[in-house]
Amino acid sequence: MVNNKFVNQIPLSPDDLPTSWYNIVPDFPGSFPGPKDPDEGPSRLEFLSRVIPKKLLAQEMSTERWIKIPEEVRNLYTQAGRPRPLYRARRLEKFLNTPARLYYKREDLSPTGSHKVNTALAQAYYAAEEGHVGVATETGAGQWGTALAYAASLMGLKCLVFWVRAVYDWKPERKALMELYGARVVASPSGMTDVGRELLIQNPKHPGSLGIAVSEGLEFAGNNRGWVYSLGSVLNHVLMHQTIIGLETMKQFELVDDRPDVMVACLGGGSNFGGFTLPFAGEVLQKKRECRFLAAQTEVSGNLVRGEYRYDYGDHAGKTPLLKMYTVGHQTEMDPVKADGLRYHAAAPVISYLKHLGLIEAVEYPRDELAVFQAARTFVQTEGFLPAPESAYAVKAAIDLALECKRKNEAKVIAFNISGHGFLDLAAYREKLLDSGQKDPEQVTLDVRTR
Ligand SMILES: *Cc1c(COP(=O)(O)O)cnc(C)c1O
Repeated sequence: MVNNKFVNQIPLSPDDLPTSWYNIVPDFPGSFPGPKDPDEGPSRLEFLSRVIPKKLLAQEMSTERWIKIPEEVRNLYTQAGRPRPLYRARRLEKFLNTPARLYYKREDLSPTGSHKVNTALAQAYYAAEEGHVGVATETGAGQWGTALAYAASLMGLKCLVFWVRAVYDWKPERKALMELYGARVVASPSGMTDVGRELLIQNPKHPGSLGIAVSEGLEFAGNNRGWVYSLGSVLNHVLMHQTIIGLETMKQFELVDDRPDVMVACLGGGSNFGGFTLPFAGEVLQKKRECRFLAAQTEVSGNLVRGEYRYDYGDHAGKTPLLKMYTVGHQTEMDPVKADGLRYHAAAPVISYLKHLGLIEAVEYPRDELAVFQAARTFVQTEGFLPAPESAYAVKAAIDLALECKRKNEAKVIAFNISGHGFLDLAAYREKLLDSGQKDPEQVTLDVRTR
């Protein structure tokens, strides 16, 4: 037991690394709606089974509660710095003058700067084990492409990344990092696929979208022998790999003899939110604990806030099977935001089902992102770590909850996930907080000089 009166950092040793991933599906009440084919056209289920590794397909459909993590993947996890610490945000608590206790998980400590590495390593491992030569994928903000490029290089695989053009154009550093890992990176829509070529004819400067990039990656993997497709979010097996985050967090709370009353993460497709919360949500379903779960979103794609719960495709061209999700529509155009990793039309089936059951709440923040970036500044100036713009949404939601606790004088425990770091997003920070002459209108923003 660690004395919670003084501790700021709650570490785990490599021996404490979980040995299995958690699958929430067998703990769901009622029947969890599975993927299906549309009434017309070729079978998407059959297509998907051809372009992803067999072990991952089995995990996607699995109803086993615990899936053993292969020894080599556990080894890769520790090599990548797992387990990751949980921090108590004492300075932020003090600054906000809140009776709430705040904790945050440090997924920003990963080699490429985000939680995406947790599934990238597993997916690259299975692709290599099954004898494939390359992995193709999509990326939006660039974090997933970087994570897969890294994992592919460690496993000796080729990697091809279709990168949403709107973002590709303003993140040359992240492109350099992917290329350093040996990946080939192309702006999407690209001339390499039918889907891309068709869109480029309509508009040669098409800004692209995550849904379009997914279609391109799937088409490429389907047409090239030895290549498989990797998805960075949404699918069951991706969220399952990410549960390593929540399983560690659960052990860390036990060490300090505390429990979260509310857990917060940002949500685009749902992988960091699911990874952080699903082990806890499973215990809520089994009536072993009480906890609220809050997803922080952007209003350009607030799928859980405004979406409809229905079958929809996961990509623009409709190459994926139909998945039952909260969706704003797979061909809806969404304006780019700095937290571009959150700009996705639907929330993972597993997350959507939990929302449908009433276990998940969601909040969305305005597209100007100002309040979110100001919350990130408060976090930087009190805790010292620069969050990714996406993670700043979780910080904002956690700060709002902490201020609510202050108004109501409630000593709640709030846990939030820092899904990534912002070192390759400094241009966004400059634009939102420094160059624009935006002064701090919010009471929560720090003024260091007058403290
Ligand atoms: C990709 C990404 C997200 C959003 O994706 P989810 O699948 O919803 O987690 C959030 N934060 C970071 C740092 C990311 O890289």
